[in-house]
Amino acid sequence: MSSQTEDVYDITIIGAGPVGLYGAFYAGLRGARVKVIDALPEVGGALKALYPEKYIYDIAGFPKVLAKEYVKMAYRQAATSDASFALGRRVKDILRRDDGIIELHTKREIHYSRTVIVACGMGAFMPRRLDVPNVRELEGKGIFYAVKNFERFRDKRVVIVGGGDSAFDYALALEPLAKSIDMIHRSASFAAHEDSVEKVKRSNVTLHYPYWETKAVHGAGSVEALTAIQTQTGVEKYFPTDAILFNIGFLANLGPIKNWGVKISRNNVIVDEFMRTNLEGVYAAGDIVTHQGKINLITTGCGEIAVAVNHAKTYLDPKAKLSPGHS
Ligand SMILES: Cc1cc2nc3c(=O)[nH]c(=O)nc-3n(C[C@H](O)[C@H](O)[C@H](O)COP(=O)(O)OP(=O)(O)OC[C@H]3O[C@@H](n4cnc5c(N)ncnc54)[C@H](O)[C@@H]3O)c2cc1C
Repeated sequence: MSSQTEDVYDITIIGAGPVGLYGAFYAGLRGARVKVIDALPEVGGALKALYPEKYIYDIAGFPKVLAKEYVKMAYRQAATSDASFALGRRVKDILRRDDGIIELHTKREIHYSRTVIVACGMGAFMPRRLDVPNVRELEGKGIFYAVKNFERFRDKRVVIVGGGDSAFDYALALEPLAKSIDMIHRSASFAAHEDSVEKVKRSNVTLHYPYWETKAVHGAGSVEALTAIQTQTGVEKYFPTDAILFNIGFLANLGPIKNWGVKISRNNVIVDEFMRTNLEGVYAAGDIVTHQGKINLITTGCGEIAVAVNHAKTYLDPKAKLSPGHS
């Protein structure tokens, strides 16, 4: 395709999670023409895909906000920049041509940009699955890895497997709705926030730990029960249940990102203090990046992408101010 027919954007953000959405807004603030591409059919990243009904308490200015409400507002804010959105498109490859234009290849088409910001979060969301009988067979039939519709669990017996933030957040969110909740955890300590652990301990949720592991899931056509085993004593417990929520982490699957030529360390893209990757014109921000002092939070990711956009701006126009002043 000749460069005359190419619609070249100033900044293209890969990932429409909270960080990508804020980046889209911020790029507009800096007068850049911006496009956002996401593999999922809707914006919101982890907040929409994994925890739409969870409250978020650590966003500046919001005492608490439902994840899906936050996404709505972040999208509205992004829309003020006239960002163009290409959803349902996984970027398979990025190639920087000799003329400096970066091509972003998806299955359907090629997008063109002068700079790119990688805001791909964890890459593809792949919940970790247990290799125990019946788990694969009953997925979607009572076995879940995320809750998209809390009402589905109303008056149901629920078993939650896991000891991290997701498991505790879901336990707290489901506790007022579910008939009963049993939590099973395989080690002696929890990875979840202390405050959530304390709240669960004070709630009607029954915690089974330490060293309880899932041995088998039972059911023909839908989940009927789960057998857990205390691995130190060999004691087994049978939990009749309507639903099992496995929250035992995600497998980091960068997928195609590994082939883009950006330097990677342990499934994260390496950036410098300007959020630059090793590729000219390619920046990164949010959960996907690693740098000294990195913390995976919405707030910090939004700060990172503001830095990335400001540096992309001066890359695009060396006469532009790095700091935009105030909004
Ligand atoms: C259960 C849970 C609770 C949490 N609670 C909080 C909280 O209370 N407060 C807080 O600050 N943080 C919380 N977090 C962390 C927070 O969700 C992340 O820090 C945040 O989502 C990072 O945003 P992001 O935009 O970088 O990535 P993501 O939200 O992961 O979005 C990345 C997007 O990139 C897309 N993508 C990936 N690869 C490609 C590709 N090749 N092509 C196109 N698109 C691609 C994905 O589809 C996705 O939409 C929580 C996380 C979890 C799992």
